[in-house]
Amino acid sequence: MSFKKFCPRCGKEKDFLVGKICVDCFMEGKEFFSMDKINMTVCKHCGKIKVRGKWIEFSDSLIAEEVASKVNVIDELADSKVFVEIEKYSDIDYEAKIKVTGILSNQLVEKESFVKFQLKDVTCDACMKLNADYREAIIQLRSSSKDTAKEMYAIAIDLLSREKSKNTLADTSKVIEIKNGYDLWVGSKNAAAKVARRVAQLFDVQIKNSRKLTGRENGKDKYRNTYCIKK
Ligand SMILES: [Zn+2]
Ligand SMILES: [Zn+2]
Repeated sequence: MSFKKFCPRCGKEKDFLVGKICVDCFMEGKEFFSMDKINMTVCKHCGKIKVRGKWIEFSDSLIAEEVASKVNVIDELADSKVFVEIEKYSDIDYEAKIKVTGILSNQLVEKESFVKFQLKDVTCDACMKLNADYREAIIQLRSSSKDTAKEMYAIAIDLLSREKSKNTLADTSKVIEIKNGYDLWVGSKNAAAKVARRVAQLFDVQIKNSRKLTGRENGKDKYRNTYCIKK
């Protein structure tokens, strides 16, 4: 036979009391977690999110992680766990469902709350450069056949877009169409070199590489490469 305990405040029968009252009454009006302000920035052009000073490919789990890092749990709660679910209402409007569980006086407790927040939309540095015709390299695609030139162009754009998740500057800031091909102004010299190599390989031709001095940086000459691929 076990002794029943009753909470003197609400009269409910409970296995454990916190001091003299039950956990529910103890928790009444008392929060066991608080939230710091959620401050996140998203680029309205490429959709990347700024996390701790770095621009990272957007994902719901990344946002959930950031929200979780803003949850402060009270010290009395042992073995606490934080769960975050994200609901997206627009590109910048979100709601997070935050659930915190833990042990309070031998009893498993949980509390939920909903927080609405907004991402600040800005233009990231890379997109700013791309909007301003920034180019570290130029890829020239040339062919006497319009179809071949178009095919080269489609492949180059596709290869660039694959690089873009790792490197926002792997994009064109301008595309110039001329009679026998295209000029692609590319924001990243590494991406341009990689894409040019791959296109030349696919069309079985050599790259004609030329470079132009564009200035000096940290005591070193700076060059802009032009990769000409002619089929
Ligand atoms: Zn009670
Ligand atoms: Zn961007």
